[in-house]
Amino acid sequence: MKPEVKCIVDTCTHYLYGDRCGAGNIDIMHEQETEMSAAKEQTMCKSFCHNQSIFNYLGSADNVNWTGSAIGLVNPDYKVSPSITCTVASCKYWGEGAVCIAEAIEVNGAASNECQDTNCITFERRG
Ligand code: SF4
Ligand code: SF4
Repeated sequence: MKPEVKCIVDTCTHYLYGDRCGAGNIDIMHEQETEMSAAKEQTMCKSFCHNQSIFNYLGSADNVNWTGSAIGLVNPDYKVSPSITCTVASCKYWGEGAVCIAEAIEVNGAASNECQDTNCITFERRG
């Protein structure tokens, strides 16, 4: 079952009212490519796209999960959730094949300007 995604990053083009994420898939990664995350702050949502640029809207328009349900955009009770591809293997919820086995995840980083400002705060260090 795919984890539910709650996200408060309201500067992202994928952010939907009600702290939902309208992306089709999100990539959760280590902030530093060469370093295994040891804390929540070292993770990021690589699918973050800043909403101040119209080019970002156009570029992210094919990565959505609400096609055909535009009403869901404004109704916070309407559940939308992206699939997750996660490479943070140092997390206890990480599963083989870049999957997340948590029931739900939460992404934070209000007022983020770039991917590195966001975090998967459900991260818990393995072991
Ligand atoms: S920061 Fe990531 S999880 Fe949050 S709305 Fe953007 S793409 Fe979705
Ligand atoms: S909880 Fe862990 S495995 Fe799941 S998306 Fe966040 S960092 Fe990746």
